[in-house]
Amino acid sequence: MVEPVELPSRIGILPFRNKVLLPGAIIRIQCTSPSSVKLVEQELWQREDKGLIGILPVRDSAETITVGSMVTQGGDLGGRSSKNQPGLSDSHKLDGKSQEPIHWHTKGVAARALHLSRGVEKPSGRVTYIVVLEGLSRFSVQELNTRGTYTTARISPIDMTKAEMEQVEQDADFIALSRQFKLTAMELISVLEQKQKTGGRTKVLLETVPVHKLADIFVASFEISFEEQLSMLDSVDVKVRLSKATELVDRHLQSIRVAEKITQKVEGQLSKSQKEYLLRQQMRAIKEELGDNDDEDDDVAALERKMQDAGMPPNIWKHAQRELRRLKKMQPQQPGYNSSRVYLEILADLPWQTTSEEVELDLKAAKERLDSDHYGLVKVKQRIIEYLAVRKLKPDAKSPILCFVGPPGVGKTSLASSIAAALGRKFIRISLGGVKDEADIRGHRRTYIGSMPGRLIDGLKKVAVCNPVMLLDEIDKTGSDVRGDPASALLEVLDPEQNKSFNDHYLNVPFDLSKVIFVATANRAQPIPPPLLDRMEVIELPGYTSEEKLRIAMRHLIPRVLNQHGLNSDFLKFPEAMVKLVIERYTREAGVRNLERNLAALARAAAVIVAEQEHSLPINKDMHQISSPLLESRLAEGGAEVEMEVMPMDVNNHEISNVFRIMSPLILDEDMLEKVLGPPKYDDKEAAERVVTPGVSVGLVWTAFGGEVQFVEATATAGKGDLHLTGQLGDVIKESAQIALTWVRARATELNLATEQESNLLEGRDVHIHFPAGAVPKDGPSAGVTLVTSLVSLFSRRRVRADTAMTGEMTLRGLVLPVGGIKDKVLAAHRYGLKRVILPERNLKDLVEVPSAVLGSLEILVAKRMEDVLEHAFEGGCPWKHRSKL
Ligand code: ADP
Repeated sequence: MVEPVELPSRIGILPFRNKVLLPGAIIRIQCTSPSSVKLVEQELWQREDKGLIGILPVRDSAETITVGSMVTQGGDLGGRSSKNQPGLSDSHKLDGKSQEPIHWHTKGVAARALHLSRGVEKPSGRVTYIVVLEGLSRFSVQELNTRGTYTTARISPIDMTKAEMEQVEQDADFIALSRQFKLTAMELISVLEQKQKTGGRTKVLLETVPVHKLADIFVASFEISFEEQLSMLDSVDVKVRLSKATELVDRHLQSIRVAEKITQKVEGQLSKSQKEYLLRQQMRAIKEELGDNDDEDDDVAALERKMQDAGMPPNIWKHAQRELRRLKKMQPQQPGYNSSRVYLEILADLPWQTTSEEVELDLKAAKERLDSDHYGLVKVKQRIIEYLAVRKLKPDAKSPILCFVGPPGVGKTSLASSIAAALGRKFIRISLGGVKDEADIRGHRRTYIGSMPGRLIDGLKKVAVCNPVMLLDEIDKTGSDVRGDPASALLEVLDPEQNKSFNDHYLNVPFDLSKVIFVATANRAQPIPPPLLDRMEVIELPGYTSEEKLRIAMRHLIPRVLNQHGLNSDFLKFPEAMVKLVIERYTREAGVRNLERNLAALARAAAVIVAEQEHSLPINKDMHQISSPLLESRLAEGGAEVEMEVMPMDVNNHEISNVFRIMSPLILDEDMLEKVLGPPKYDDKEAAERVVTPGVSVGLVWTAFGGEVQFVEATATAGKGDLHLTGQLGDVIKESAQIALTWVRARATELNLATEQESNLLEGRDVHIHFPAGAVPKDGPSAGVTLVTSLVSLFSRRRVRADTAMTGEMTLRGLVLPVGGIKDKVLAAHRYGLKRVILPERNLKDLVEVPSAVLGSLEILVAKRMEDVLEHAFEGGCPWKHRSKL
């Protein structure tokens, strides 16, 4: 605290360059110049009593001296600090030898040392002092002596005496001014209090220190200009001093406020997520305070437990733990949190060790099951039993992967699920149809947004055991494009050497697939990449004949369909003749999928009738026998088992049928067939109707749906000899058409299509060949013979036989080459009700696979050369003159 001091009349002077020390202020300086060191040594260090020195501001134009840190008595008010600079009071420049003009100020402040420390620089031995000075009271300089080692001055005090002070304190102006000052100072303190929490001590200062001294202390703590400092020093009159100080304090307050506003503005621009983060932190703290359970923490703990129970291999467990630690450090709203969590959930959900208990394989039971689930397919079932037998004898044998190849609906999937049932394992179907991206198999790396594991790992997660039977469905439908080659990923999956450590990009840790039993299906083997095909054993399932379909329907499909619709044979009966009609008129497929769908439609319709009528009509006890054509026809179908109810004669037909249905099974008849399934879609007459004009021939093609009949239409128009092709044709089939046209033109005269003179068949006309149905893409070489036949028919104006279908590739010179899919094509011809099939001679061997019932109903004609085809295709043989020579 600043006490009143008695000033000596002479005092050693320490010049302060461009700087003022005000009473009440504290400053730390380092003295290095000889004059200042001498001054401190003599006036402060060597004195036994507490010596004083005078601090006198000097102004020089160069303004080279900087100041040390300044601390006010009550604490740092302005937060100002600067480095201590040696040479603050370097009197070399102040002793008159300096070139710069020096202006001594006439007023100064006497100061005492609060702390002194002496240092000796090595190796020079130069002495320096660090002094902490406190300003005490103002003086005015009477006379300055700069001739000694340091400057001295004769001074006189100018601060008011106690008595004078007491007098001024009565002054109304002074009272108003000091109130004003205190208010402003208070305001400043509270602002600073909020910022720095230093108010406590400063407030005490306000109450204990006389206000005129406070004015100096406050101002000393601000960064103000030298001029302002000087004018503060010169304000000997306390009223002037107070009003000046109020102004400066106020200015400082305003500048703090402006700065605060700017900060607030910046804070206002904090992003929403940062704000949310702060709020969540607060919420967390509140919850903790309330002892509420934190859901998020709970969830993470549950996840950790789940991970512990997942039975991960040690290296993967380590990896998962690392990831968990990372998760725990994250906030839920942090960007990576969710992805990291989902990843760990997947790791925890995967069946690292969980297996379905393998039952002792009973081959007899497996065979019975296969037989009871599937009609026919003797060879296929035999092969499956062999496969199972090998597995039983040597469970770890590297058995080949079975691949069922055949058109849709022939039982590929259901055979695979029977294998799973026989082995007592879970069954999972992975659809590969349309998979073009390797990531579908292997997953996306986690760096991608929305990344997920591949279909295999996803399937394993769903099935929750690591040893299921996994059906890779439609493996022939995977294709490769720029996004990688799924087939190569599948190669790794199916290779027993590699699939022990299958690497899914998403998981990024190996998963053992070696316990999975893979079974694949495909519509055709040909599109499967050879290396993949090499790993598999292809088991072909041709389509079914109508007879087989009927048996399958009666034994398997109908009981299943009835069961699915809550019916049984007491409610609805499917007479064989009607099922046959469904097969012939409503389906024309290799498999039985549409057949099953149609039977289900019939069952649905029956279910509606049964459900509606069950309770609606009480049975009339007083019944008479009636006769109606409807009833009779049903009696004929149902035979003797049909119970007859006697109805009163006056009931209308509607009621008759209702009662009939309740009391006896509803028997499917042709009417109902048409009502539910619509008019028949196919009949045997189609080929005959379409081949009525010359230029149309009947081909056999092979599609993903099995064999199909493909008509080829050719017509000629006036033109310039161009060939037009339509019907979504691929390059190979287009070339076949060119070859066919060239061959026909080359043999125009031999075939009696043109006279020798006008041998150019295309003279003045265009030829247009169309392959209906126009919307289905077609390709392949096997339409060669069909194309030639249709062109010969067109130019000879003779119709092709409507009961004859053909297939075969043709060379430019007329040789007929073998083609694929004979079995399916022959079955298709049979389905369409055709009677004769022309095949390349070298395809005869393929007929062994065709069921004998089908072969028995068809006449198979072989062709070696194109002329043989034409010979068979036309009624009465081909219209050529003589055989062409090669
Ligand atoms: P795919 O997988 O070959 O397309 P599905 O296995 O799905 O065909 O078979 C379609 C339906 O036909 C299934 O309900 C299946 O049980 C039945 N099915 C197919 N072939 C037979 C068969 N030989 N015996 C009994 N049901 C069969």
